[in-house]
Amino acid sequence: MVIRVFIHFLVVVILTTLTQVGGIVYLICLISKRKLQLSVAKSLATFFVIYLVSTFLLIPLLSQLGDRRPLPIFGKLRPLTFWTIALNRHYVNTELKDISIEIANQFSEEYPGSKINYLDANFPFFRGFPLPPHLSHDDGKKLDLAFSYFKRGERSNSAPSIIGYGVYESPMETEINYPDICQKQGYWQYGFIGNLIPKWDSEQYVVDQERTSFIINELLAKSDISKIFIEPHLKQRWGFDRENKIRFHGCQAVRHDDHIHFQIK
Ligand SMILES: [Zn+2]
Repeated sequence: MVIRVFIHFLVVVILTTLTQVGGIVYLICLISKRKLQLSVAKSLATFFVIYLVSTFLLIPLLSQLGDRRPLPIFGKLRPLTFWTIALNRHYVNTELKDISIEIANQFSEEYPGSKINYLDANFPFFRGFPLPPHLSHDDGKKLDLAFSYFKRGERSNSAPSIIGYGVYESPMETEINYPDICQKQGYWQYGFIGNLIPKWDSEQYVVDQERTSFIINELLAKSDISKIFIEPHLKQRWGFDRENKIRFHGCQAVRHDDHIHFQIK
């Protein structure tokens, strides 16, 4: 009995951490399984139906009550992986949504056919509810973008990591090396995600500095964007040394030589 309760508790925690609403849907299914005497197969099916209806129909409407809107699924601004949508990790406030779409439009005007891939944004509900593992993504005002890449020498709209994180543009020997500095200070989590991500064809990718810098310049040009995080060695390598808006995020965060984080005021 105790073990069963613990397992249910663990599932609720994991689903809430990953999707925010999944834990509540699980609890609803657990209660209806008891009340309606459903089989495990039927309650699993109920879970998926309620979860999918909530994710694609209900949540995008309800989240607007707290000024959170889903980012587009298709087009010039899109998620790198469909899991970002399926897990409800693509919500921002109206202002950030408008800014992001505007930048993606400018990007694809400059580079026809090019798209901006977004990564984790925020959950749909509650100010102060963080989106693990990004503790600051809790107010609808933060968004991560993937870098742009060449794949086998051609400009590509995909990325070397399936989730956008964890395949790094590491510091060269002569550059400042925060992954090393943070590791030595005991911040084991700083580059930890790199150990989890498969790197099947990552050697076919090279970061496209020109297109990635274009995105960063567009972010810099928007007065409502208050901070941008990229790893200090890339800030230097890509010629952004003088830009005060581009900050170091600190060793308590994670490496930012695989994506761009930005936030509005
Ligand atoms: Zn971020």
